[in-house]
Amino acid sequence: MWRRLSRQAKRRDKSQCQICGDRPGDPYCELHVHHRVPRSEGGSDTLENLITLCDLCHAVVTKRWHGPWFGEAAKWGRAKIEEAREDFVWFILLPDRERRAIQPQVWAEFGVERA
Ligand SMILES: [Zn+2]
Repeated sequence: MWRRLSRQAKRRDKSQCQICGDRPGDPYCELHVHHRVPRSEGGSDTLENLITLCDLCHAVVTKRWHGPWFGEAAKWGRAKIEEAREDFVWFILLPDRERRAIQPQVWAEFGVERA
């Protein structure tokens, strides 16, 4: 069930991180499927609640992934990670249409230009 849903989410998101635009094959990019509203906060296992993120963006938005990812990059510091997390969260919670409308701007902020 989850495998099927996550495949569908990745297909809908064109196998691309919906924050930074990375795709598999880009350096260090591994795609994860993330719950926009966490299950622990009542979020559902539905396509609408899922979003494709690369492992780095996932690490930023999900506390659970801070350790694995930022263990090595601790120089960021906790405060900066929290700040970055807040910068991302509003974006992934937008309805798809609004998110897509501003996505190129968000990518541009990360120095990424994608169609
Ligand atoms: Zn990303």
